[in-house]
Amino acid sequence: MTMARLPLTRSATHQDTSTPSWLWLASHSMMLITLYYAVGLWGFVFTPDAYGIPLVWPATGIGLVFVYLYGYRLLPALGIAVILIIWQFTGTMMPWQEAVGVIVATLAGVTLGAYGLRRFQFSPRFDRLRDVWLLLVIGGLATSGVAATAGAWGMTVSSDELRFGEIWWVCWIADLMGLLLVAPALLTWLGTRLPPRPEQNLAASSALTLGVFVVATVAYADLLSTALAMPLSYAVFPLVMLAALRCPPQITTGLTLIAGGIALSGTGWGMGPFVQIGLETSLLSLNAQLALLVFTALVLTALRGERESADARARQHLDELARAGRLSTLGELSAGLAHELNQPLCALASYAQASKRLLQRQQLDDLKDALEQLDASAHRSAETVRQMRAFAAGHTPERRAVSFAELVKPVRDLLRPELRRGNVRLDLNLDDPLPNVVAAPIQIEQVLVNLLRNAMEATEGRTDGHVRLSAERKGAELVVSVTDNGPGIPEQRLSNLFDPFATWKSGGLGLGLSISRSLIEAHGGHLHVRNRDEGGAEFLFTLPVEDHDAGA
Ligand code: ADP
Repeated sequence: MTMARLPLTRSATHQDTSTPSWLWLASHSMMLITLYYAVGLWGFVFTPDAYGIPLVWPATGIGLVFVYLYGYRLLPALGIAVILIIWQFTGTMMPWQEAVGVIVATLAGVTLGAYGLRRFQFSPRFDRLRDVWLLLVIGGLATSGVAATAGAWGMTVSSDELRFGEIWWVCWIADLMGLLLVAPALLTWLGTRLPPRPEQNLAASSALTLGVFVVATVAYADLLSTALAMPLSYAVFPLVMLAALRCPPQITTGLTLIAGGIALSGTGWGMGPFVQIGLETSLLSLNAQLALLVFTALVLTALRGERESADARARQHLDELARAGRLSTLGELSAGLAHELNQPLCALASYAQASKRLLQRQQLDDLKDALEQLDASAHRSAETVRQMRAFAAGHTPERRAVSFAELVKPVRDLLRPELRRGNVRLDLNLDDPLPNVVAAPIQIEQVLVNLLRNAMEATEGRTDGHVRLSAERKGAELVVSVTDNGPGIPEQRLSNLFDPFATWKSGGLGLGLSISRSLIEAHGGHLHVRNRDEGGAEFLFTLPVEDHDAGA
């Protein structure tokens, strides 16, 4: 089991638990460098004049995602990507000490962030609220904080005009916004699998993607006046929210990336509703809008994930309960079967022994009688098993009008060997005539066997063991009573005597009375017990008599 699951577990977690091939390392390093460099170039499109620094810097977010997902072994590639960007934009103008400072600080920020995400078991699925907070806090404070410090230091150290405090916070906003823009999409697309049947959401996902693309393009392509384009720019909110509630997280984060990419590109190129207030301010207010969009999308995705895992837990709990229920029913069923079969099997053994004895003695008339009883006991066992199977399959045994006296006879035959062995006298006191009852005969016989057998066992050890079975009609009911002259039932046991598994006998199962009560109640009657004044116990049960006899 464990062995079989190992590869699955490994592929589901970060890849740095295994040694990667050089090809893997080279391809992932190339991917990181290319992406980092490309978004770096893109970030410089938004360079405002005043500071000469980009207001959106998604490159750090890409570094964080790659190192978090694929391990610290990608740090050298990240270092190369940072060098390329510095070289591209400052050429040889940046003193090498500053360049080293920027590289080291960027690597330190990403390392710290990746460590933090792993340390606090961040999940790229965003299916818990804590994942949203972890990305914001760790990405925002550790990664963006350290990287912004590096960026601000790099720019202010050799310039008298720029103040570190002002630059730092512009860099931080740029880093954080870049992170919010690219990290959720990269984390979900690279770090998690699509749901098992993504085609189910294909139509909704495609429609929403198209919707976001069209809305963002129209809003930021200077096709409308600002008065129209500004409210339109908010129309992506409901589309992204719908995706968060309906589609896989990959689609939701993809939509925020598309919306953000178009909005930022448009604004950077001087188009769309935000440009009128000046590039720097416009990008900052657009950043605020996009940050809200990403935050809303992630929070909704996480809330939906939490609700789905709560549902899954509840379903699992119900399954477990149902399984436990089936097991306990199965357990009770087998215990019940063992209990109910015991009697006919004992009788079978007794009659078989008696038959052997009678055969040796050549008492053929008695032998015939014993063999008939043996046959009856075998049939009874088979019938009990059949009824239990029918019960397990949910069938109700067939009921018919039957005379009570007819039910007593096989019970008496069944118990005869035991009565003889225990030296117990069984008296029958049946009204004549007895009304018919509507019953499943074998079930009422089972009840009689249970009660009479308990009564016989209660008189064990007495030389004058005496059990009486009486039946009389009272109105629309037949009242049957089984009495004995045993010790009676101790007062404290009376309240739970009929509970399943309540037994005070060595080797007892404690099921006879509980089964008997269920059977009688299923027939519309009641089963009670009381201690007799003259000593011993009395079990009383009622059965409704057949309808057309009711007025008799
Ligand atoms: P079991 O006979 O396997 O113990 P039952 O459900 O038939 O299970 O009986 C439960 C308990 O009720 C018995 O253990 C016994 O202590 C008590 N009991 C039942 N019938 C009598 C009786 N006639 N006299 C005294 N005690 C009885």
